[in-house]
Amino acid sequence: MIIEDEILILKEVKYNDNDKILHALSKNNGKIQVLSRGCRKSKSPLINISQIMAYSKCQLYVSKDMYILNGGELIDNFYNIRSKITAFLHGSYILELLSYISQENDIDGKAFEMTVRLFQILNDIEEDEDKIENIISIYELKLISMLGYRPQLKECVICEEKLNKDLSYVLNIKDGGIQCAHCIEQMRGTQYVHSNNNYVNININNNIGKNDISYKNIVLLNNMLVSKLDDNDIISEVSDIIRILIKNYLFYHIGKSDFTTLNLLRKGV
Ligand SMILES: [Zn+2]
Repeated sequence: MIIEDEILILKEVKYNDNDKILHALSKNNGKIQVLSRGCRKSKSPLINISQIMAYSKCQLYVSKDMYILNGGELIDNFYNIRSKITAFLHGSYILELLSYISQENDIDGKAFEMTVRLFQILNDIEEDEDKIENIISIYELKLISMLGYRPQLKECVICEEKLNKDLSYVLNIKDGGIQCAHCIEQMRGTQYVHSNNNYVNININNNIGKNDISYKNIVLLNNMLVSKLDDNDIISEVSDIIRILIKNYLFYHIGKSDFTTLNLLRKGV
């Protein structure tokens, strides 16, 4: 049987003398492995669509344990990303993240389309480290939500009281949402001092997996969930704190934080 699908290549592995095994994200079939026969020969018609970051519409022969690339047409190879180090490393991180995530979680067509959109943005964007990192944060928050871990940000994850700008909150990563000062107080004994209608946090940083979060930042996270990836108003509001919170939230729920490309970014390559 031959099917047609759109695919984005996450990873390529050399195989035999002239072949590759491609790890790909597909629009309709989640993550798949595709055998691309002969694609390492210089005259192969499959050469362009068998490379990492290639996005194409292709015909796949479905064998019993693998897909075999039959032919296809390159839609985009996001060529400009390769000449911009920050965009390239962040794009590579996303490929690595998806390679890992989709082994255990289903990635649907909506997440596929968002990922293609992200690569279009990285391809077109000027090299601006802060802006790129903020866009990646918006993508990460949307992705983890699509995987079934959408954080509860409109009410306390414990008592379900509606978000109230006069209360202080932490992001309770484990339980997947914001937790109000009343609930933290009840769970930990008296840890808060009441002052001017605000709760002053004394000792919450010792509480693993719970991070202080301001009302303004909770509103921002809510807006990030419904905004486009390239909404400049939202992008400009994202801060270091938000970026770290989202990465902590994502890594906790996927169970991995050690990504080669992120380590390169942290070293400032
Ligand atoms: Zn509560």
